[in-house]
Amino acid sequence: MKVCKFGGSSVADAAQISKVCDIMMSDRDRRVVVVSAPGKRSKGDTKVTDMLISCAERALEDFDVSRELEAISQRFAAIIADLGLEASLADDIAADLASRLAYDKSDKGAFLDLMKAAGEDNSAKVVAAALRARGASAIYLNPAKAGMLLEGPSGDAVLCDVSYGFLHDSIERAMWRPDNPIVVFPGFFGVNRDGKVATFPRGGSDITGAILAAAMKAECYENFTDVDTVYAVDPRVVPDVAHGIREMTYREMRELAYAGFGVFHDEAVMPAFRAGIPINIRNTNHPDLPGTWILPSRRVDECRVVGIASDSDFVHVYVEKYMMNREVGFGRKLLQIFEEEQVSFEHMPTGIDNITIILRGSKFPPEVQGRVLQRIKKELAPDQLVCERDHALIMVVGEGMQHTVGTAARATKALAEAGVNIELINQDASEISIMFGVRESERARAVNVLYHAFFCNGAI
Ligand code: ASP
Repeated sequence: MKVCKFGGSSVADAAQISKVCDIMMSDRDRRVVVVSAPGKRSKGDTKVTDMLISCAERALEDFDVSRELEAISQRFAAIIADLGLEASLADDIAADLASRLAYDKSDKGAFLDLMKAAGEDNSAKVVAAALRARGASAIYLNPAKAGMLLEGPSGDAVLCDVSYGFLHDSIERAMWRPDNPIVVFPGFFGVNRDGKVATFPRGGSDITGAILAAAMKAECYENFTDVDTVYAVDPRVVPDVAHGIREMTYREMRELAYAGFGVFHDEAVMPAFRAGIPINIRNTNHPDLPGTWILPSRRVDECRVVGIASDSDFVHVYVEKYMMNREVGFGRKLLQIFEEEQVSFEHMPTGIDNITIILRGSKFPPEVQGRVLQRIKKELAPDQLVCERDHALIMVVGEGMQHTVGTAARATKALAEAGVNIELINQDASEISIMFGVRESERARAVNVLYHAFFCNGAI
């Protein structure tokens, strides 16, 4: 069986929900569907989740939110009317929203979570009704009743491991009725041990889908969105990108996601990754296309580089001291300063007499930078200490590199020909990626020439 997940753009209006129904009904193996809240219908539109959040925040400040509530009810009512479903469903949703709003507000986080969850919860009820209206058998399953137990802070909850068993049993029970219903499950939320609704971080319906795929040991997890494929580079950086990724491994996805690749939130797919379940990213608007597969392993002989990712806002702290290599404990003392200042570092390339600590700028604000540099000067007496912001990292990723000679040469040749100064190169022992450090001002040019070197004119 397959677990499917449809994001906000796939359930934004009646036309999109009709496509969801067609997709679910076209393959009998698609037995469980996780849905998001209705997303944007066009560029300037507002997601239902954002409407719910601003409504809840205003309610917490004691404003009258009847207009906001009405606007949210109307979004659902329009979908229901356009799908030709019973108007009583719209009344039920309006009543549900009103009863959430009347809930105790003393625990602000719990109240916000309860309101946010209304988007997915009601979206699932609409999709189940739409499937039934088309003659399919479908049931809505409530995450609290199904045993989706969460823990941790409001808006940032994580799954309790015991949930897998509960979810498996509840879904089996729901599914194996004589009429073989499709189980429609709201994404994004569960319930904590106090019985209160709790939500995952934003975008959390992906997490719900991965959890259910793992709980059901699904043959695959189909994640439907609004792109035909995951591209080999970010189209915002290389507008003429034409190369879609047909398949990649979880390790490749993780490397690409690390450097800002917007494939997926890599943490979101952890449950599916742990259970070794293949993920297929597909387009609701072009369901006939194969999309991109993320697999536990793959044959790599035909494609050595799978993608190129880049990310900005890195800081380099360069520390040089003559005879550093003989000074026992230098590296430990240096890292201890970062640890004591609660700063995590990303990379640490070294030379004989120097170490560069690479950090994310967002985690190294100027006031912390000032303190750390003072301490390094005082406690380690370096000959040179330089801190530079505005660096970028580029990752050239592909499992096939392990077996291919010349990948680094091809990349450095392309960068040299484009006059891009490489400040840093790093290839770790897994040989699945090569990392280049360049100035932020050279990032886009560097990614463009690398893309053309590896993916264009028969380069692969
Ligand atoms: N609706 C939620 C959000 O907008 C969760 C999701 O769509 O995955 O973040």
